[in-house]
Amino acid sequence: MTTLTKTAPMVQVRGLHKSFGRLDVLRGVDLDVPAGSVTVVLGPSGSGKSTLLRAINHLERLDRGYVAVDGELIGYRRSGDRLYELKEREVLRQRTGIGFVFQNFNLFPHLTVLENLVEAPIAALGRPRAEARATALGLLERVGLADKAAAYPRQLSGGQQQRVAIARALALEPKVLLFDEPTSALDPELVGEVLDVIKDLARSGTTMIVVTHEIGFAREVADTVVFMDGGVVVEQGPPAEVLDRPQHERTRAFLAKVL
Ligand code: ADP
Ligand code: MG
Repeated sequence: MTTLTKTAPMVQVRGLHKSFGRLDVLRGVDLDVPAGSVTVVLGPSGSGKSTLLRAINHLERLDRGYVAVDGELIGYRRSGDRLYELKEREVLRQRTGIGFVFQNFNLFPHLTVLENLVEAPIAALGRPRAEARATALGLLERVGLADKAAAYPRQLSGGQQQRVAIARALALEPKVLLFDEPTSALDPELVGEVLDVIKDLARSGTTMIVVTHEIGFAREVADTVVFMDGGVVVEQGPPAEVLDRPQHERTRAFLAKVL
């Protein structure tokens, strides 16, 4: 475990490189996400956004650089000036502190909504079942789905399934929540209810990194907007700067297409 200073951000990415074969997907990414802040990551398809989120969760091995969450190196331990990959069990423990919400919900289809929220806290955190259940019911209330506890995922709309997926991520009390295009698979009329839940989390101080093309959401909720292209952070700053006064031609060209 690497202990960084107390002022270290909740998520710190430094010099991150990742290639798939000859394809250099991340080419030196640096990112700081302060505790309690919301970072929205924008960028064209193929710019490396998903790979960045996956690297933060150590779903990808890194070629160079490192990721630290709450001062702890993710996926590796340092010995001298070398990094050694952690055992799968250790990585799984670290991942319980990093919530991940996918585009396609990824709920367990054979479990009820309540069971989807209860199993991981029991297995990963050793919570007593009664306590895990009470927490889960509270979280379902929070995402407006208390009446769906006994339903199965297939009985819910996409928007409801995504709200369950968010509640399930919260059930592990993560230090940071990563969202990879959480509304991209939804019918347009269901996007708002999911963004509203994410906005509510933002107001309550949950640290989040959200990959999305929802510029209105970014403007309203983000503390920092990061624009990626070609595996690098092209520019970043408050939404009013990056969205309204972009400094780089690549950012302007992208915004012109999505706005
Ligand atoms: P984004 O999320 O910004 O659309 P990705 O991070 O998904 O971008 O992908 C960036 C590039 O890396 C794409 O060209 C993609 O095809 C490639 N890529 C991603 N994952 C893999 C993989 N496991 N193997 C090979 N290529 C990959
Ligand atoms: Mg992606």
